[in-house]
Amino acid sequence: MPKDQKASDVQTSLAEFAAERGVKYFMISFTDLFGAQRAKLVPARAISDMQEDGAGFAGFATYLDLTPAHPDMLAVPDPNAVIQLPWKPEIAWVPANCVMEDQDVEQAPRNVLRRLIAEAAEEGMHVKTGIEAEFFLLTPDGQQLADSQDTSGKPCYDQQAMMRSYEVIREISDYMLELGWGPYQSDHEDANGQWEMNWDFDDVLTVADQHSFFKFMTKTIAEKHGLRATFMPKPVEGLTGNGCHAHISVWDAPGEDAKTNIFATDKGEGQAGEVGLSEKGKHFLGGIMKHASALAAITNPTVNSYKRINAPRTISGATWAPNTVTWTGNNRTHMVRVPGPGRFELRLPDGAVNPYLLQAIIIAAGLDGVRSQAEPGKRWDIDMYAEGHKVRGAPKLPLNMLDALREYDKDKSLKAAMGEEFSAAYLKMKHQEWNEFCTHFSDWEKERTLDI
Ligand SMILES: [Mg+2]
Repeated sequence: MPKDQKASDVQTSLAEFAAERGVKYFMISFTDLFGAQRAKLVPARAISDMQEDGAGFAGFATYLDLTPAHPDMLAVPDPNAVIQLPWKPEIAWVPANCVMEDQDVEQAPRNVLRRLIAEAAEEGMHVKTGIEAEFFLLTPDGQQLADSQDTSGKPCYDQQAMMRSYEVIREISDYMLELGWGPYQSDHEDANGQWEMNWDFDDVLTVADQHSFFKFMTKTIAEKHGLRATFMPKPVEGLTGNGCHAHISVWDAPGEDAKTNIFATDKGEGQAGEVGLSEKGKHFLGGIMKHASALAAITNPTVNSYKRINAPRTISGATWAPNTVTWTGNNRTHMVRVPGPGRFELRLPDGAVNPYLLQAIIIAAGLDGVRSQAEPGKRWDIDMYAEGHKVRGAPKLPLNMLDALREYDKDKSLKAAMGEEFSAAYLKMKHQEWNEFCTHFSDWEKERTLDI
């Protein structure tokens, strides 16, 4: 197994990749609107044809707005993004772009992101992000924490708990090292049973593929150890939820050609300049702030997401999740934190976010901000959890998924930027999900209503 897959960089022939590395099967994978990864297992002997024509899928059978009458959807693998499974080197995973009758399927999330990357590039902007994908380790039935001794009231960075879960965390970390992702730290997070593992920031398409693969890998390795990993936004009532914070910067070129961070300034003019954001960085942030209530429909895409934001204080003392559209310097109690010059952290997204749509919505909102010279509003250097009542006029984040969908539907420029076809498909499928939730009969309503 080569130690650094990244060194291989541009792959043109998957058949050669298979021959060089002893790969027997390819997992051709695409991600649907709800973030589910769908794959076909293709033997190496058939990969040349598949690389050209794509693997056929019935799109209706996945979370895409397609009917049984639609023609085959073809998932065409992106050879530059192939990853040989470090734990099963005979298989290589390769993310794919969805095509139907020679046209990109516009609602397919990886296509939405690719289009927005190209739009930003036309304006000389190359977005890079780093993400913090938090997860819980549970028992296989999902009912209990995997580590029954992990009961501390302040479990963050718990050294003893770290050792009890070491074999799982170490194995995932080893694989990221082998893949050349540049992992640099792992820690027990703020909830009992919760973990975070960090690797280097990169171009958004690379990060979206890595994010997808990280979820696949983490779940697989947890299963191998007889556990279950979950990225669900709020899997345990009363405990801190799974965030997926994104650290955002914009550069003059993609990949290793990037030399200048065009978000960075040391001039220090105005409230954004004082914390190290350039004019462009300020307007990009302005776009995120302007569209925040609407983009929550993407960054917080499930019914459960709204139990993480707007949450009451957790057992550990804080939710670490925002409820208001505010920004600040190096302070974790707001929706956006500017931890240092040249980047900002969006703390809104949660573990359910679709890896491709997360990056796409950041570009869509940010680009609109730059084009419209949007202002981010006042910088609030206060403890938002304790002093939030002092903030007047800042928009509140949506209280539930339906509110978020309505905000998204109202935001015409954001919908257009994400693509009309995508936006219509997403809204339709998510409204169906909301309606399904509303018809679900819960114990809570029975308890509250039975004796009324
Ligand atoms: Mg964290």
